[in-house]
Amino acid sequence: MKHINKTNINEVAAIIDKAENICLIGHHNPDGDALGGCLGLSEILTVTGKNCTVVLPSLVPDFLKFLPNSEKIVIGKNGEEFLQNADLIFCIDFNAPSRVKILEKALTEASATKIILDHHPQPDDFAEFILLKPELSSASEVVCDFVELLDYKKFINKNSATHLYTGIMTDTQNFSIETAGAKTFTIASELLQYNIDKIQIYNQVYNTYSRNRFKLMAHLLNDKTFFIDEHKVAYIIFSREDKVKYNYTTGDHEGIVNIPLSIKDTEVSFIFMENLDNIKVSIRSKGNFDVNKFARKYFNGGGHKKAAGGNIDMKLEKIAEFLQEKLEEYAKEQ
Ligand code: 5GP
Ligand code: MN
Repeated sequence: MKHINKTNINEVAAIIDKAENICLIGHHNPDGDALGGCLGLSEILTVTGKNCTVVLPSLVPDFLKFLPNSEKIVIGKNGEEFLQNADLIFCIDFNAPSRVKILEKALTEASATKIILDHHPQPDDFAEFILLKPELSSASEVVCDFVELLDYKKFINKNSATHLYTGIMTDTQNFSIETAGAKTFTIASELLQYNIDKIQIYNQVYNTYSRNRFKLMAHLLNDKTFFIDEHKVAYIIFSREDKVKYNYTTGDHEGIVNIPLSIKDTEVSFIFMENLDNIKVSIRSKGNFDVNKFARKYFNGGGHKKAAGGNIDMKLEKIAEFLQEKLEEYAKEQ
């Protein structure tokens, strides 16, 4: 894998110039950043005259459907033929093929040149090129850097500015976490020049909960949140029964894991969501506890130091005991 920089960007530009079919793919359960990065770059390349298709392994959550052209995204297995026929594939906001779940095989077997644009550390080697900036707030910010390197900023329009701003805003929790640095604000300020509606974007993302989602959140916080004081941990148990009761749709649990961190003595927060075939975990930290390490070690996952996720094949009733045991084991090793 070649790291993209000022010296070899011409090589990348030539590949883009030659490409007739470009695919942009984001991870399973896409968040604002995966969508913002893919749709934003797709829009920019489309303005330059390229034929682009955004492909995702799973559905766009309702609260992100306001993103321009999100209705054109090709979802699930339908994406396979686009990956097969592409001559260039951008992998955005993920760094391991397993993150695209049902499209993993199609992605790894595709003959196209692959380019990773991401901010997650420790990438797998599955592409020809990579622009990896773990210090940046979001993959959307990496896309902005890529666009600048290509000298494509002149092709940004209101749609792509909306996409990229949304990606940056969601991954930084509205510019509130430490990854939102001076450069992030500079880029956001540049994107605002395109007359995008930042209040509407904020409201679409954070103030469009369904009543079910609101009630689910209240239930999980009131009845399903537990604490392990000696490790400053909170964890939320989200069962399939809860999903049925609150008519769960994709994305409804998004953000809930952050809330226990608002408690003074809680440093790490987990949510365990029961799926048909496994348990999906999301982990957040506000201190020195490295949740990327923890997710890699015990949950077959990864992410960043302060936000990570993974999954495990286990009965939900066993999770509390498992977590307690692994926290102790981990603490002893540190
Ligand atoms: P979330 O908990 O919101 O799903 O994800 C938090 C962070 O962890 C994101 O940066 C996401 O890309 C990463 N992440 C979530 N689940 C997984 C996983 O199963 N594997 C890996 N490698 N990263 C994950
Ligand atoms: Mn993401």
